[in-house]
Amino acid sequence: MANKPLVILLFISIFLPLCFSLPLLQVSPFAFLNDLQGCKKGDHVNGISKLKNFFHYYGYLNHRINVTGHLIEADFDDTFDDFLESAIKTYQQYFHLNPTGLLDVETISQLATPRCGVPDIINGTTSRMLSEHDNDNDSEHDHHHHHLPHAVSHYAFFPGRRRWPSTKYRLTYAFLPGTRADAKAPVARAFATWARNTHFKFSLATNYRRADLKIGFYGGNHGDGYPFDGPGGTLAHAFAPTDGRFHYDSTEKWAVGAVKGRYDLQTVALHEIGHLLGLGHSNVRNAIMYPYIKSGTTKGLNADDIKGIKVLYNRR
Ligand code: ZN
Ligand code: ZN
Repeated sequence: MANKPLVILLFISIFLPLCFSLPLLQVSPFAFLNDLQGCKKGDHVNGISKLKNFFHYYGYLNHRINVTGHLIEADFDDTFDDFLESAIKTYQQYFHLNPTGLLDVETISQLATPRCGVPDIINGTTSRMLSEHDNDNDSEHDHHHHHLPHAVSHYAFFPGRRRWPSTKYRLTYAFLPGTRADAKAPVARAFATWARNTHFKFSLATNYRRADLKIGFYGGNHGDGYPFDGPGGTLAHAFAPTDGRFHYDSTEKWAVGAVKGRYDLQTVALHEIGHLLGLGHSNVRNAIMYPYIKSGTTKGLNADDIKGIKVLYNRR
């Protein structure tokens, strides 16, 4: 009898947190998309506003720009309007889907795939993450292929062609103190791969604070303005030159190599290092800079990635 309060306490401390945390752990941040399948223009459905925010974040919904080129505060509603339809078409064109403007099975399935958190469409005003340190003093070099809806297939750069100065080809990298040990060799191999295919030389620094490139695992809101979203959804992100930050979402299931249901640390590092060097996303499916990654697979550099980095640094 004296143990009864203890049993109740155990129940409260073990079972109640389980009840609340299990659904949170299992539902992907992109799961809301599944409820939107079959939606079309004119519909009012719960979750459309989330989809609008999603498209806005990744650069597909950019109509809310005022005359000075600044984004108007987004207050997206649940109405499937013309702007959303056009964003869906742009997205479908970018990913070589049928540009119907409808939320069909293929589109929802693509949208719900875990991905890199860096926006896809780069035109300087729609992608805050890409342009917040942008000088934009050589924007005349921006190529036509940055601008959709021309259906094009290849690499892209950040606004203003952000890159490392030509004299700065030796870059040091370091891991946030306390970084999981199994990530270090895969990241080192990813740097070695980029070094073999570019003029860059990478070396591991002992001083984290002074390293050019800083790698770490972070969960949720981690102070850079781009919170991670838990398991699934956004897997990692990195900043354009010469920022140097590359963050993994610590809540993802990571692995070394191709492990079922897990993401390969080295493949994601290859992708994020591409951003650190100045590459944006490519819509070539086999390119390392393609924004989506499948779990249980590995991927290497593609001719598209190598061509992109060579063009960016005028080393053809
Ligand atoms: Zn990316
Ligand atoms: Zn971050």
